[in-house]
Formats: sequence, C-alpha cells, structure tokens
Amino acid sequence: MFSGHNIIGYSTSAKAGKKLQAFSTIRQGYLPEEFTIATEEDIEAATAKAAAAFEVYKKTTYEERARFLEAIADEILAIGDALIQRAMLESGLPEARLVGERGRTMGQLKLFAEVLREGSWVEAVIDTALPDRKPLPRVDLRKMLVPIGPVVVFAASNFPFAFSTAGGDTASALASGCPVIVKAHTSHLGTNELVATAIIKAAQKCGMPDGVFSSLVGEGSTLGQGLAKHPVIKAVGFTGSFRAGMALFKTATERPVPIPVYAEMSSINPVLVLPRKLEEDIDKAASMLAGSITLGVGQFCTNPGLLFIIDSPHTQQLIDKLTGLLKATPESTMLNEVICKSYHEGTKNLLKEKGVTTVLEPQDFSEAYKGGASLMQVAAQDFMSNTELQNEVFGPSSLIIRCQNKEEMAAAVRSLHGQLTGTILGTVEDATEFSDCIDALTEKVGRLIYNGVPTGVEVSYAMVHGGPFPATSDARTTSVGADAIKRFVRPVCYQDCPESFLPESLKNANPLGIMRKVNGQMTKEPIS
Ligand code: NAP
Repeated sequence: MFSGHNIIGYSTSAKAGKKLQAFSTIRQGYLPEEFTIATEEDIEAATAKAAAAFEVYKKTTYEERARFLEAIADEILAIGDALIQRAMLESGLPEARLVGERGRTMGQLKLFAEVLREGSWVEAVIDTALPDRKPLPRVDLRKMLVPIGPVVVFAASNFPFAFSTAGGDTASALASGCPVIVKAHTSHLGTNELVATAIIKAAQKCGMPDGVFSSLVGEGSTLGQGLAKHPVIKAVGFTGSFRAGMALFKTATERPVPIPVYAEMSSINPVLVLPRKLEEDIDKAASMLAGSITLGVGQFCTNPGLLFIIDSPHTQQLIDKLTGLLKATPESTMLNEVICKSYHEGTKNLLKEKGVTTVLEPQDFSEAYKGGASLMQVAAQDFMSNTELQNEVFGPSSLIIRCQNKEEMAAAVRSLHGQLTGTILGTVEDATEFSDCIDALTEKVGRLIYNGVPTGVEVSYAMVHGGPFPATSDARTTSVGADAIKRFVRPVCYQDCPESFLPESLKNANPLGIMRKVNGQMTKEPIS
C-alpha cells in the first residue's frame, strides 16, 4: 500500500538508505512501514521542478486552478476508509473526528475554488489615465496580486488532514498560483503519502505541470532547514511549536534573499469569565469550558489555556463544577510521543512556578501515551510577574488567573503575549462594565469570541486564524479562511500597459466579470 518514496512532481525517489517510521500512540510502537528520507539531490530535484512548474502554473486560469483544487478533494475522498484507518493509527485520533476533518479539508479546497471563480481576491485596482489633468497628466495605473513563487508547507501534527499535506496552507498556495513542496510530518508519514499521491493524481488529470506539487520526508533540522534556505523557495507556511517556527523564521530572514515565514506557533487563548454571566448560568459556563479544554485531548491551537476570573462568591462554585466535569472526562490517547511527553512535563513545570497551585492535579498517563485534564490556579499579581506562565502547554490543561477586581483583570490581560483568540463569557452589562478588559484583549488577539468557545474554527470568508506574535510570526495574515491566499501573493502595478498585454483581471472589458476598484469605485462594469 505504501511505497515509502519521496514524491517529486510526477516522479518518485528513494535514494537514501536512511528511513523513518511513524510512531503510533495507539499501538504504542513504531508502525512497520518505512519511508525514505529525502537526499540533497531530492531537494534539488523538487525545487528545480517547482521553479519550472511555476512558469506554467502561474499562467493557468482561475477556472483551471479551481478545477484542480476540486479534483484534489475528489481524489482524497476516493482513497476511502484506508485513509481514515491509517490516520487513526498515526495520530491516535478517533474515526469520527478524522472523518469530520477530511470533510473540512475538502471544504477548504472547495472554498478556494469558489474564491478563484469569484475573482476579487486579486484586488484589481484601476486608475485610468487623465491625459488632460493639469498641471500634469495622470498615467494609466492598474494593480493586482500575483503569485509569489514556490512555497514550502510544513505539515502540522495535530491536524493530519486539515493543516497537513492538502491542508489550508497547501490549498491557499495552490489557489494563488504557487507550486507547493510539503515537508511531511514525521508523525503521519503514511497519511502523507496517501494524500500526496491523491494530489499528484489530480494534477495529472487536470494537466497541471510536473512539479506543481512535491512531498518530501525527512527531519526538520535538515530537510526543513534545507528547503527554507533554498533560493527557489519564496515563502514558508508552518504550524507547530514556537521553537521550530522561530528556527525557520531566523533561517528565512538570514537568507541572502529573505522570504516570509507564515508560522502559527503558540497560543494559550485567554477566556474572561465575567461575574453576571456566572450568576446567570454557572452550569453552562462550566460545561462549555470543560468541553473546550478537553476537546481532542486539548491538542488544538485554540485550546482555552487561561481563564481570567474575578473573585466573587460564584468563583469557587464555577471552579468546583469545572473540576468535577474535567475529572469525569477520561484520559485519552495523544497525537505522538513528543506531544505527550511535552504535555506531562509542561504541567509539572507549571506547578513549580511561584504561586501556582493545583485545582485538579495532573496525572501522569505518559506510559500509555495518554493525557488527562488538569486545572491550576494563580493570583493575577503572580501571573503578571512571570512570563513562564504564558508558555503553551499543549493538551487538556488550563490555568485560572484569579483577579481581585476589573482593574487587576485589565492589567493582567495587558501583560499577555499575542494570541490567536480571546473569549468573553459575559452579559451585555458585563461587556459594558469590563470594556477596558475587552479593549485590552482585542489588542492581543486575532479573533474575539463572545459567549462561545475558541475551539472550532469556521473555514469561511471572514475568519481570522492568526494573531500578534508569538501566536503567529505575522499578525497581518490568517492561515484559515479565504484570506489565507493573500500570504502567497504580491502586488504588481502595470503602468500604461497596452491592453493586449494586461492580465485578464485588469483588461478594460473585465472578461472575468470580477469586482474591481475603478477610479476609486467598486464595480464589475467594463471600462469604456
Ligand atoms: P514541531 O516540533 O514544531 O514540528 C513541526 C514541524 O517542524 C515538523 O515537521 C518538524 O520536523 C519541523 N521542525 C522541527 N524543528 C525544526 C527546525 N529546527 N527547523 C525546521 N523545521 C523544524 O511540532 P510538533 O512535532 O507538531 O509538536 C511539538 C509541539 O509543538 C507540541 O507539543 C505543541 O507545543 C506545539 N504545537 C503547536 C501547535 C499549534 O497549533 N499551536 C500545533 C502543533 C504543535 P521533524 O519533527 O521531522 O523534525
């Protein structure tokens, strides 16, 4: 079923003797299939093909690219149950979650097909010439976004489909017109091969150039760094740890020609639990929080890791109810050895920090590669004076920050690092009274959630899955939703360009019928 080869455009390669195997936390051992590590020659071959493919692929029509993305979705579905079964073995995730994630991944690909057909993503802006303008005439200026070049995507461990080989980074880069080279995640090498093969089948069926997609196996420090350094590569998409994200960022900025790294790294997703909301429905608040903390064994970048609560008669009640619910949630298998080990170490380390006390003691299930919920608390003053308490503990754990009053809550929120999300559990009256805290929170996050939970990220036009550093390396972007495509493009302005040389999106007749800004007005009308 598996070749264990690197996929280099329409060829495969297995030159190196060195191989990797995926570790299964369910089987509690390495899976037998071996996957060959890419050699330097393989990196050269994949990048050379990507560079050549870019020259052809960037000129494909949006309709051709849309059909390619839809074909990838179809080919992924066509793998059938074998894909789900392999992903279960490699990720420890349950079947229902993986079936849902496959649907989401296909939905992402289809969203970008829709974005391409709608066309306004290129942000076409036209300022027509004003030959009679005094004192000087105005030239004709037309601007749009064009693809940046070959992109390297680092597959994430916690979403073996949706943030992986054919995940959001790959879908958005391919949609923009950029070839993609995926650095497979070592946790799910078989899943990667199945999906990469599906992408290649779709590319061949759609007549896409050889090299529009490749997938290489290897270690981050060698293969990952080698790709990020390679002169052909023009951008990097990454989801994972702060350490690896920053290592890539450093490499990319120190290249002779620096390139952007869109790294989603570390977020602990603060929740403000406000007093009137607690008075209104303490049971609901507790069950929402418990569900979100333990969802997927807490292995989500949007997991609520910090709960800010004002001390009041209801505080202890909430903590007791939440503790009861967390305690009742059984421990569960984690994604991989490293994540499981880091989770157990992270909770233990947190308890060593000044002022941190146990509410629900972390149990060590690491021998079975499982994680159980834990809850700790600390006074706001201790939280503010210790940035160690802001390290991501990736798993079903949360830290309660006990605040004496709203001024202390606002100060504690101001001391936060950048986050993907911030949540407010509060009534309208709470929101008015705590507006300073909410203002402070807005400065720190990419998405503000009212009376919901941060886990669950809709893939849509308005979604922002990004946020100030260290949540991401570039707060101006999102890695989920339609605007993710904007990471892999750059603007080009055509001055006095003859009509016949203009891209379709900028031609007078507007043959694609897209929304454009013409002389300051949004319109789909042609220019007469
Ligand atoms: P990771 O260690 O950051 O690895 C992610 C990818 O980066 C892997 O392909 C890895 O390759 C590569 N890599 C590692 N070091 C590198 C380096 N110096 N240069 C270039 N590439 C490098 O993440 P993980 O294995 O998925 O999980 C580890 C921890 O990351 C978790 O415990 C959690 O704290 C965090 N994490 C966060 C999120 C989030 O969304 N916030 C998601 C997943 C994980 P190799 O493994 O093959 O070396």
